[in-house]
Amino acid sequence: MMNILYADIKRKWNDFFDEYDYNEEINKLRAEYPDERSIYVSFKDISSYNGEFASDLLKNPSVYLSLGDGYIREITGIAPQRNGHANIRLADIPDIPGIKYGIRNVRAMHRNSYISITGIIRKSTEVLPRYNTAAFKCPACGEYTYVSQETDRLAYAKSCSMCGYDKGKLTLVVDESELVDTQKLEIQEDPNNIDGTSQPQRLTVIMEDDIAGKVYPGDRVTIYGILKTKNRRIGTALLPELDTYLYANNFRKELHDFEDITISTEDEKKIIELSKDPNIIHRLSESIAPSIYGLDIIKKALVLQLFGGVRKTMADGIKIRGDIHILMVGDPGTAKSQLLKSMSMISPRSVFALGKGSSAAGLTAAAVRDDFGEGRWTLEAGALVLADKGFVAIDELDKMDQRDISAMHEAMEQQTVTIAKAGIMATLNSRCSILAAANPKFGRYDPMKTIAEQIDFPPPLLSRFDIIFKLVDTPDKDRDRLLASHILKENMLGEEYHDSNIPEIEIEFVPAIDRELIRKYVSYAKNNVFPKLSQEAVNILLNKYLESRVSSDGSVPITARQLESPIRLAEASARARLSNIITKEDALLATSIIDYYLKDVSSMNGKVDIDILNTGISSSERHELEVVYETIKEIKANIGKIPDLQHVLEVLQNRGINNEKAMSDLERLKAMGQIYEPTAKKIDVIK
Ligand code: ADP
Ligand code: MG
Repeated sequence: MMNILYADIKRKWNDFFDEYDYNEEINKLRAEYPDERSIYVSFKDISSYNGEFASDLLKNPSVYLSLGDGYIREITGIAPQRNGHANIRLADIPDIPGIKYGIRNVRAMHRNSYISITGIIRKSTEVLPRYNTAAFKCPACGEYTYVSQETDRLAYAKSCSMCGYDKGKLTLVVDESELVDTQKLEIQEDPNNIDGTSQPQRLTVIMEDDIAGKVYPGDRVTIYGILKTKNRRIGTALLPELDTYLYANNFRKELHDFEDITISTEDEKKIIELSKDPNIIHRLSESIAPSIYGLDIIKKALVLQLFGGVRKTMADGIKIRGDIHILMVGDPGTAKSQLLKSMSMISPRSVFALGKGSSAAGLTAAAVRDDFGEGRWTLEAGALVLADKGFVAIDELDKMDQRDISAMHEAMEQQTVTIAKAGIMATLNSRCSILAAANPKFGRYDPMKTIAEQIDFPPPLLSRFDIIFKLVDTPDKDRDRLLASHILKENMLGEEYHDSNIPEIEIEFVPAIDRELIRKYVSYAKNNVFPKLSQEAVNILLNKYLESRVSSDGSVPITARQLESPIRLAEASARARLSNIITKEDALLATSIIDYYLKDVSSMNGKVDIDILNTGISSSERHELEVVYETIKEIKANIGKIPDLQHVLEVLQNRGINNEKAMSDLERLKAMGQIYEPTAKKIDVIK
């Protein structure tokens, strides 16, 4: 009975290949084997050949596909043993219910059927060979017995299939066995498709033979394959639950941006209508976090971040990111976390992360050896890689791991994460915009200190943010009253509590544009609008740049890289209006935001100094530190021995640096590793 069925399936494959023209593919496989090992067969062809055969194939793919593989091996003359592989891989599988499932909806009833899932690759192991068919040599007759390997433990030959020998062990011979490359992946459902509160679900995927090693963490893929189960055990004891995994037959990388957001012609009409509003950026800014009062300029910057600038490739191949990175530093309770949450709910493809990540991969990526890899090295994507072509909200950035800090430079600027460790060597993409929040080191923001002094964060990383906002909780009666009434009203609305005795509060809460429409608007703009600078805009940006270069007493305040930020913001502003031309107004909005931020965070005594951002030290401070250092050196040379602290302080006093300033400068130099105290009250320089 079973044999007849098998013969029937085989005959149908035969008929199929007779009727449908796959000669080119078959000849290619024959000619280029073993470089080519698969034939991609359109499921549409199979369906039109025989609907019943097609649906049976989906119900029982293991049998149907392996008989198809056997047929291909026969007609191409590829030996069935000794690494003789040929695979039928199904293409054009429709993404329809009954085939395509959400990762969280994969169930026992789908066991052994052909399904597809879509998600982001989170982990991938090294590719290693495994026995597909193990060859055992008989010590008596010298012939081989082949045992096909279907479980996670190696299956041995109990007796020789030729002479029946079963008195002792048969020897495993690698050269005679059939090996197959294998790789284990973990795929995670797209965070966009879940409600934001629950943990994204994951599924293990096995990729074998020529499709192993083709996808990387951070890739968005649809994987087609057979849902299989594997026994779980503790030691040798079997557990009653099974592990499920998808044995991949084919995959498709999702290459288009935001293909997961569908925009109907109806939506498109609404989007174009909205874009005609001259106040669109303001309207959007009021809509992104309506429950947060004030912070208008921050919200405007966040709107620009949603749209982003245009990614560019220079003539020399260097890429300039279009994504806008924003950091908010400030007092507790100033709505930083709330803004992060609002933005991650609106942004397409967003990931919410904590500075101190909960997984080994942290914010960037890591190569780890954990249970998942079963002894193999596993490459695991962190938040910035999972959010490739999307958005990451990072709360408590100041708590970031040391390892991440060093990887962040590359991740933020080149937008890649490179991992080179053990058997793993990979460069993963992290093309995403970052909105981060950090708390000041000493609990509260101290207006007398620079940003760099207030967060435990290397200044060069700080300078990779296009904008840094500080949020200070200063008591202000009028503002407090408005904020309080805003929060009260919001709560009342939340409770749907209407009491006519409560006086009307003058603030309106109706979100101007709903969240779903903003998401569509943003993805529409990012996919269709690539603005270019007008001459007027160039003039404004250039003048601003030149102006700020001379304005700060001789020191070079703004570096060329700082010109990229206003350009990005201006591009985003044009995008938000669905305009392909960056106008004067876009440039002015960009420079006003940059001005606000520079005055806000990088000025000491009202002067803007980019050095504070880049190094944490203003150029005048740096000059003073140099004076102190040189003075110690000079005294030492003059007196021929290590100077006393008192002596140094006196000389510095004469040079216009009072004792209090001098002491804090000395502390700073000590922290920077420039000077040290060999014994108490003596100061020496470190060369
Ligand atoms: P942070 O992360 O800065 O410490 P949170 O985002 O947790 O602060 O905010 C603390 C609370 O204060 C939240 O309930 C938030 O809604 C409220 N809050 C703070 N500032 C504002 C504001 N400007 N408008 C409305 N609510 C605010
Ligand atoms: Mg917070």
